[in-house]
Amino acid sequence: SGARVRRAHGKRLPQYLERGVDVKFTDVAGLGKIRLELEEIVKFFTHGEMYRRRGVKIPGGILLCGPPGVGKTLLAKAVAGEAGVNFFSISASQFVEIYVGVGASRVRSLYQEAKENAPSVVFIDELDAVGRERGLIKGSGGQERDATLNQLLVSLDGFEGRGNVITIASTNRPDILDPALVRPGRFDRKIYIPKPGLIGRMEILQVHARKKPMAEDVDYLAVAGMTDGMVGAELANIIEVAAINMMRDGRTEITTDDLLQAAQIEERGMLDRKERSPETWRQVAINEAATAVVAVNFPDLKNIEFVTIAPRAGRELGYVRMKMNHLKFKEGLLSRQSLLDHITVQLAPRAADELWYGEGQLSTIWAETADNARSAARTFVLGGLSEKHHGLSNFWVPDRINEIDSEALRIVNWSYERAKEILQRNQNLMNAVVNELVEKKSLTKQEFFHLVELHGNLQPMPPSI
Ligand code: ADP
Repeated sequence: SGARVRRAHGKRLPQYLERGVDVKFTDVAGLGKIRLELEEIVKFFTHGEMYRRRGVKIPGGILLCGPPGVGKTLLAKAVAGEAGVNFFSISASQFVEIYVGVGASRVRSLYQEAKENAPSVVFIDELDAVGRERGLIKGSGGQERDATLNQLLVSLDGFEGRGNVITIASTNRPDILDPALVRPGRFDRKIYIPKPGLIGRMEILQVHARKKPMAEDVDYLAVAGMTDGMVGAELANIIEVAAINMMRDGRTEITTDDLLQAAQIEERGMLDRKERSPETWRQVAINEAATAVVAVNFPDLKNIEFVTIAPRAGRELGYVRMKMNHLKFKEGLLSRQSLLDHITVQLAPRAADELWYGEGQLSTIWAETADNARSAARTFVLGGLSEKHHGLSNFWVPDRINEIDSEALRIVNWSYERAKEILQRNQNLMNAVVNELVEKKSLTKQEFFHLVELHGNLQPMPPSI
């Protein structure tokens, strides 16, 4: 049905490659002398041979440390852009948050792709989500995470000193990372990116103003003075909001006043986090509610701990935290049925979007989870779990790639219909969860299951495709 799903048909494409990354250092402002350190990383790519000849060790990993929104992702892209190499990225929170059970195998394929397409930058966002010191997470949640972390360590070691694949990770909490991660040869270089000061803020505003119709006499310094404590992401947003303001008034230039007004709105948004419109809150609520409502129908996924639509770092939608039965989830080894159920859950946001907003209005809010579903479906087929491909297990057979893809597509389509069916059957529950989420922003386990008891229509699902 959707474009995202249709793309699964065809040749194998790198899943973690970001195409068309065209960021340069001039797009990142307010860096001061940090820029020199980043220029050196670019040289590891462009002058790698020279470094090696002189016996200078090239670090395997670089850690960008700093609060959300200061431009860590942007910088990693700029390194790739300046060096002219491929950019692969993944958010470590994906390993643990919408729980997959295939964290380790994701890390493996991420590095596999990066190697096949070298030279490349691998960017891992929010490393602390998976790199937290072992033993800090108690209970079964830790096992899967440890497997993922171990795989990451192995992958990092595989590229040590070669300089053709360099990993850049971002974190706000370098202090809690597992010591094994920061050992020499791994993330042995840390770069701190602080919040911008007055001049930094002015420069960031100016960078984002480049592509906008600004009035000649805009006083950037005045706006910078009004935005103490704000980071690049918020400053970029001020320019966008100011532009909308100008359009609404039918003017053709953005003035200092537009910027000051936008700064005030951003400031208020920062304080009560209401920068989302009521419609957006609702849309995010539908997205997260769908995940929880579909998941609660499945034995291995029904242990919902927490559902929230509160933004984190100003860019996440929200998330559903599930506790899994880890005995069944050895490293990358999911039971057949659980994997099918998981795929169905990942397609729930997409299905909900269609049911609540209609085909014509589909947004991209579900793009990430739909991607998860697609890759899980391939895992399913490649693992020999699909009836049709029992004999095919575990490795690629080049001339059968199309066959694998079309089988994966069949599974995605089947799961999508299944997600829709569950959502339709549970419309009352969906409405109740959505309304409470919009009102309270988060639901505890107890609150969620109270609604399930009142409104849920849970039925055993036909076991298999
Ligand atoms: P982080 O990874 O640190 O959370 P991002 O790199 O995702 O932050 O920043 C989000 C957006 O904010 C960027 O895409 C960019 O538009 C803007 N931004 C952040 N920092 C800067 C900066 N130093 N210069 C210019 N733009 C910035």
